[in-house]
Order: sequence, then structure tokens, then C-alpha cells
Amino acid sequence: MSKNNNHRNNFDISLNLNVRGFPISATLWINELSNKLLKEGKKVYKFGLGQSPFPVPQVVVDSLKLNAYQKDYLPVKGLEALRTAVAEFHSRRTGVKRSSDDVLIGPGSKELMFLLQFVYYGDIIIPTPSWVSYAPQAKFIGRNIDWLHTKESNKWKLTPDELEKIFKKDPDKPRLVILNYPSNPTGITYSEKELKEITAIARKYRVILLSDEIYGELHFEGEHISIARFYPEGTIISSGLSKWCGAGGWRLGTFTFPPSLRWLLDTMATVASETYTSTSAPIQYAAITAFRGNISIERYLVNSRRILKALGLYIYKKLSKADILTPKPEGGFYLFINFRKHAAKLKKRGITNSNELAEKLLQDTGVALLPGTHFGRPPEELTLRLAYVDFDGAKALAAIETLPAYKLPDDKFLKNYCFNIIEATDLICNWID
Ligand code: GLU
Repeated sequence: MSKNNNHRNNFDISLNLNVRGFPISATLWINELSNKLLKEGKKVYKFGLGQSPFPVPQVVVDSLKLNAYQKDYLPVKGLEALRTAVAEFHSRRTGVKRSSDDVLIGPGSKELMFLLQFVYYGDIIIPTPSWVSYAPQAKFIGRNIDWLHTKESNKWKLTPDELEKIFKKDPDKPRLVILNYPSNPTGITYSEKELKEITAIARKYRVILLSDEIYGELHFEGEHISIARFYPEGTIISSGLSKWCGAGGWRLGTFTFPPSLRWLLDTMATVASETYTSTSAPIQYAAITAFRGNISIERYLVNSRRILKALGLYIYKKLSKADILTPKPEGGFYLFINFRKHAAKLKKRGITNSNELAEKLLQDTGVALLPGTHFGRPPEELTLRLAYVDFDGAKALAAIETLPAYKLPDDKFLKNYCFNIIEATDLICNWID
């Protein structure tokens, strides 16, 4: 063996074996691939990465400008004023009473989730389909994953019975259950009744719920309910600026704990202090404005929801007519679509799994979506996640101001301001035909 090879092997051995062989996250990969194809002059419809199409509200941008000079390292748990604003935001929005001491600020909720899994020793229960990064994070750390396969006939929702089946096997085992609604990737949310039923089982087995409510403000009717209202002692609410405030690239996430789990917050802060130190100072100051809210932010939210609802329903109707199955969306900006009714036809074209389906769709139509495999679904299931975000949200928000408040944008509006979405939906339907 040559010296060079020896060197390479030494480096290889020093890698964490849990991480070795993992590719970069699917959401970032599809975005980079789409941008590369666009640069090469190809027509691409960017339905891959779930990035908010809307601009950051102007008052929040102004606040960031005013705070660009903030240069100090901030407290590891976050600015006191921001932690207070986040606690009050949850109290105001969902009636969950929390104080600044219960809040942890981080550089994106994704990083906070990683820290939580790092410090908490329990098994992790991940429903499928669910967001692409929960499982890789658990695998990096070496946590045991219990997959909970939900059913399409139940709109891919978690049910208390299915949860209990897992808990019963070893009732005393410490567990962390991930709940995410409005859901990425399905656009579905839970009713008060369903949340109460999940609460009953969670309480019985004393599990910790990580309730990822980052899309809560994008509930189409503005009626998001946090499960922390019913299960306050065991719920950690995850939120941030990325989705409702259009600021994914700012990287600011929040975790809000019950007082009884303060030990977890403190332990996560210890790891944070030895890794990223603290979250960007100017961003934290600007986030205070966002979480305190005001009338212009409310208006921005109401209009964002109207546009997303009209778009979600438009695509849902078109795809359903073409026998591409998906539950009727209730919030956020995703649809989880299933081509199973076209399986025989696709097989004749050489497509037998979701990876091939996504690949062929991109090649033939330029529509970039993510295969269901990245969301924990079996490869032979012909599912894809569609993120309906490829439009200029600033233009759409300006235009909707001229519509009466009781009216949803009609097809003409959508064609004018969300043209890529309408065109790509037609392309998908024609392609399968
Ligand atoms: N949450 C977004 C998505 O699912 C993108 C951000 C990310 O994955 O880090 O597409």
C-alpha cells in the first residue's frame, strides 16, 4: 500500500462511523441541483426545497438594519428580551403560559433538534412520512429509531393506537416522540380532539413530545393549536423565523420547554456553549420585533395564508382530477402526492420506485420534487413531496392587497402571480397522462 493510501486510511478512520457514507441533506441537495440546472440554461420548476416564497416583513428587516452594529457574543441561551418575546408569542398564540426561562434560542430549530437528540438518551419515535432530517440526526448520534408508519387512508396522521403499540412493548423506556403539524411533507394538521387523544397516550407513558410547530402560523385559517395546551408537562414546542417570517437563511430557531424539563434546556445550553457559542446577535435583535408582532406582521400573515391556501387547493384539485392522490392541505406549503393509481403505466415506462419517478419527472418536465424515500417511505411506494413555493411572494403579497379581504385569490390571480406553480402542475398532469 502506498504512503498516500495510508494517509487516506488514517483520515477515514478518524471519521465518525455513524456519519460516514451519508450524503448532504436531500432538501439542500435538490436546491443546489435545481440551481445548477437553471444556471446551465434549463427550465426548472423549484418544488424541491421548502423555502418560504415571501419576503421578511419590512419592520423586521428594518430592525435588522438598525442592529447591524451589534457585535457582542450573546448569552448562550439567547437574549433575555427575545426569550421573553418568544414566551409571550406562545402564550398569545396558543394559550401556553411560559416564561423567558423556558426558552432556548438557537441557529435554526434544526440545530436545536440535533442538540436535543444529542443530550437526551431515549429512543426516538419518528412517524413516516416526516421531514428529511429527523432520522439522519438520530443516526449520526447513534440513537435507536422506532419508525411509526402512518396510513395514507388516515391522511398520514399519527394515531394514539399506533403510538400505544410501540410504547406497550417496553412501557418504562424513555422516549422522544416527534410530532409535526401543519406537516412537512403532507400539509395536514390535527384537530383539538386528535391532539387530546395523543396527549392521553403520551401522558400515560410519560414520553417527551417534540412538537415541531414551525408551520403553525401558516395554518390556512390561522387556527393552529399547540399540543402543549393539553400536555404542558411533556411538550417542547419547536418554532423559528424560517417559515412564517420568510427568514430561513437568517437561521433562528426557538425551543420552548415546560419548567419540569429545565434540566434538558440547561444541558443543551452546555453543549451549545461548547459548539456554536451563541446565535448571531443582529438576527436575535431583529427577531424580537418579529416575535413581538404588530399590525403589519398580522396583515402579512393573513395574506400569506390566503395565497398559500388558494394555491394548495388549486394544486390539490388539479392533481386529484388526474388521479394523483394527496390529502387536502390545511396549512404550510407542501403536498405529499401518490402516483399509485398510475403504477401499471409507470412500470411500462420503466419507473417502479419513487427515486426513478422523481428523476424521470425532472428530466422530462423540469419539475424538481423530492422522492418519498427521503421522508421515510418505502422506495416502491410512488410518493413525492411537492413544495409549492416557486413564485415571487413579494409580488403576490402586493397584489392581494387589492382583493377584498373575504375573497381567496382566484385562478386568474394565481396564473398572474404564481405562474410557475400553475404551469408545473399542468406539466405533471400531462406527463402522467
Ligand atoms: N425545511 C425545509 C424543507 O423541508 C428546508 C430546510 C431544511 O431542510 O433545512 O424543505
